[in-house]
Amino acid sequence: SSAQDGGGEFAFFSEEMQNDARESMRFGTYLRRSVESIALGGSEFELHYQPVVELKTGRIVSAEALLRWNHRRLGSVSPEKFIAEAERNDLIYPLGGFALSSAVEQLARWQRNFEFAPGIAVNVSVKQFQDPAFGGQLRALLAGTGVSPSLLEFEITERVLMSDTDRTLSVLQLLRDMGIRLLLDDLGSGYSSLQYLLKFRFDVLKIDRSFVSSIGSDVGTQSREVSRSIIDLAHSLNCDVIAEGIETAEQLRYLIDQGCDYGQGFFLARPLPVDQFNKLLIAGKIELP
Ligand code: C2E
Ligand code: MG
Ligand code: MG
Ligand code: MG
Repeated sequence: SSAQDGGGEFAFFSEEMQNDARESMRFGTYLRRSVESIALGGSEFELHYQPVVELKTGRIVSAEALLRWNHRRLGSVSPEKFIAEAERNDLIYPLGGFALSSAVEQLARWQRNFEFAPGIAVNVSVKQFQDPAFGGQLRALLAGTGVSPSLLEFEITERVLMSDTDRTLSVLQLLRDMGIRLLLDDLGSGYSSLQYLLKFRFDVLKIDRSFVSSIGSDVGTQSREVSRSIIDLAHSLNCDVIAEGIETAEQLRYLIDQGCDYGQGFFLARPLPVDQFNKLLIAGKIELP
């Protein structure tokens, strides 16, 4: 009723804006219901796993866990979209908790079934990091499953380091002390990454997809230089490097030639449901051209 009876007061809201507002409210409601239903056991969320490959050998060393949401009305929704929404309205706590516990349970299965279990990298949001309950939940999860913390990796972005830096640094140190590996994600996509590189030593730096994807295009010469510089910088800081978003043989070749340690991308393998990922794990490696 309000849309019609609002009178002059709301006249500056176009019909389109009202539709957008209504749609985004509906989206928020769908997400809330889906996240709530996790606790009831019926999950519309699952993790897919994208292999991280040692570029020299093609060996699969770990998997990045990526959340997927398949909603009965909306279909498959992009993580960029639902993660952002979940961060806005605090659903990221239960949703991030689900991702973390699913990943650790998967690690436990791999640890039981494979001689060389791969690691899993879980993306962790700013808010999760600032949640005082995070450390305790993590400890309980690892203790309950018997998973070795050295198999667990956290991917964080510069954004995490920009807010409440002191507290964040102490959480990072605590995780490091537990034996968890720490990766800096999307390096180069944000603002002032370099100062953070000096504040905390990450185990791995991940070169943002935007640099890798422009290797071989018009702006390729500059991106090549940037990718190469990041690889050299990482090594001089004693970190390993993962290039994300490798889509062509040319990009792969260039990164190998520059001494990049690891890579991910559609050219190597897409993010996969666990049963398909397991097939790759049995082979143990990806054939490189
Ligand atoms: P990200 O952590 O940077 O993850 C890498 C993204 O690049 C994934 O997108 C992956 O599917 C995509 N990708 C991998 N290789 C290629 C390639 O060769 N080409 C192209 N075009 N894309 C490639 P996805 O799965 O859509 O996830 C998007 C973002 O959503 C992630 O970016 C991450 O920031 C966030 N995300 C996903 N799962 C989680 C989660 O469990 N927790 C949190 N906090 N964030 C998550
Ligand atoms: Mg990531
Ligand atoms: Mg990334
Ligand atoms: Mg990225």
